[in-house]
Amino acid sequence: MNRSLPWGWIAFAGLVLLLPGPLGRLLLDLLGRLTLLLILLPLLAGAAGLIGWQLLRRRLKTCAACGFSSFGFDQCPACGAASPGSAAPGQQPLELDARSATITVEAVDVDAVDVQAVNRKPVDG
Ligand SMILES: [Zn+2]
Repeated sequence: MNRSLPWGWIAFAGLVLLLPGPLGRLLLDLLGRLTLLLILLPLLAGAAGLIGWQLLRRRLKTCAACGFSSFGFDQCPACGAASPGSAAPGQQPLELDARSATITVEAVDVDAVDVQAVNRKPVDG
């Protein structure tokens, strides 16, 4: 392919850009905006993609049996195991009910512990 450069158009564009006038100013303004758009568009798209990915990742459920990540299905699409979030019969939920939990507190005799030794501070000097 032997295409000759359009020197006439290049000279015309250069003249329009160099000469002071509304057309040159408009072209420069347009070029500036286009450049800004071309620079900012990938950044904005990247930020939007990152936020979208974070939102997606929150909704992803990982199968306990095979580790496959899926979107909130009752059954794993890969292996068919019931997901822990769904109320499958005969399956215990992973979270403990706080009302039924028992906290064991062990009483310690205060006199047996040497309080004086704990409160005593080393004297400097
Ligand atoms: Zn699975």
